[in-house]
Amino acid sequence: MLKEKLLELRQQALSNIDSADELKALQEAHVRFLGKKGPITEILKGMGKLSKEERPDVGKLANEVRQLIAARIEEKKTDLEARLLDLKLESEKLDVTLPGRKTVPGSHHLLASIIREVEDLFIGLGFSIEEGPEVEQDYYNFEALNLPKDHPARDMQDSFYITDDILMRTHTSPVQARTLEKHKGVGPVKIICPGKVYRRDNDDATHSHQFMQIEGLYVDHKVRLSDLKGILTVFAKHMFGADREIRLRPSFFPFTEPSVEMDISCFKCGGHGCNVCKGTGWIEILGAGMVHPNVLRMSGFDPSEYTGFAFGMGPERIAMLKYGIEDIRHFYTDDIRFLKQFYRA
Ligand SMILES: [Zn+2]
Repeated sequence: MLKEKLLELRQQALSNIDSADELKALQEAHVRFLGKKGPITEILKGMGKLSKEERPDVGKLANEVRQLIAARIEEKKTDLEARLLDLKLESEKLDVTLPGRKTVPGSHHLLASIIREVEDLFIGLGFSIEEGPEVEQDYYNFEALNLPKDHPARDMQDSFYITDDILMRTHTSPVQARTLEKHKGVGPVKIICPGKVYRRDNDDATHSHQFMQIEGLYVDHKVRLSDLKGILTVFAKHMFGADREIRLRPSFFPFTEPSVEMDISCFKCGGHGCNVCKGTGWIEILGAGMVHPNVLRMSGFDPSEYTGFAFGMGPERIAMLKYGIEDIRHFYTDDIRFLKQFYRA
């Protein structure tokens, strides 16, 4: 009877193991047939009740069945694990022949490119680059530049005030005042100052509450207006083409005397008149002049010993003219369709 039961159990177990298609089913079969409360263990426990003749045969068979089931479970487990690994490899297959995703390299913003171009030119002419704070004292932004508190020219440069005496700088000129002060009355001072400036303007196609400036300053013994004209001519030809001519028109700035506006001959029509130069043949590029004696004096320089020139330009205006950009807001709205056009500019 027990022998038959063992043979039946063997049959059941092997068929269970063969049909198992996951590791969990194998574990269950192990518990069911070989566990501490399983039928084979029960039979082995009950051996004492058997007769002496039966005992060795049943014992031997029970052990054989137990070993066979255990071995078959192990075998099936190895087999299943291998199949599961194959499936996993198949589902995670990598096609190494697919073309990769391209990363488009970035580039400088158009304004940064223009500023670098101007910086390179002036470094080559012996100027160095100076920077200063964007949150500035009224003294450096206005007073040290010959713009006392009640000066009407302040109206043209309304700013964002932090306190009555601290404001967002309206131009990069305070860097000139700070640099002159550092030199303690001893020249030469030969610098350009690029940077962001702020005005309380309503944004439109030609106005932005924040924009860029590049200013230049050269103070030394016997610096003349003709030196300014020479430097500006080199600049105009470098930025807008070798056959550019310049003209200087009288103007007014509180910090220079005399003051001038510089025009260049139109690079589009060559001076005949077109939409870029509004039919005049000339394009206004920048303001300049000889440093006002009051500015030199306030920064500790003796105007009877030193003279100098200063100029200031807007990188946005240069970029807009050179590349036919119609709206200053394009520079600051970070539209990738706009920026992409200047990847190699
Ligand atoms: Zn023109």
